[in-house]
Amino acid sequence: MEKLVHLDKDEAKEIEEIFGITHYNHPPFNFREVDEEYIATKSWFRTYGFRYTWYAQIFIDEEKEKGLRNQPLLGMHFFGLGDGTGIAFYTDYWGKKVRWFAFGCEHSYCSVTQQEFDEHNKEVTAKFRAGEITQQQYHQQKWTMYRCWHIEKCTKCGNIWQYDSSD
Ligand SMILES: [Zn+2]
Repeated sequence: MEKLVHLDKDEAKEIEEIFGITHYNHPPFNFREVDEEYIATKSWFRTYGFRYTWYAQIFIDEEKEKGLRNQPLLGMHFFGLGDGTGIAFYTDYWGKKVRWFAFGCEHSYCSVTQQEFDEHNKEVTAKFRAGEITQQQYHQQKWTMYRCWHIEKCTKCGNIWQYDSSD
């Protein structure tokens, strides 16, 4: 068993980009403390596995304000999804409890329009024709529309979510 999750440079860079981390002691984008009800009902815990897991010591503004100078950093375990969202927890040994956090955009999804669909595929096709992407990438990136397949776009961050409603 590994004591902590150590990341190599490339992994760390990827995580910084996806989750909007500007410093290794700063939390990811839109970091907020949540309760257990949030974890049980709002997180993707139930249906998806996490692609990224890491450990970091984080400055929490609230803690700094309280002037807890002898323990200004909270060591936390992070679990992130490819869409930039995720959850983290901190085990408070002396408080005998676990504190939960969430991070990333609070997505608000809307179906892509026919125009967005056509423009996206036009761009991907142009990239393929120009030799910028491989045939495999072309097939991965091209959107398809068929029964029970949904393509939705977040109105806040532009993240694309594709899913099969027949699953
Ligand atoms: Zn979003």
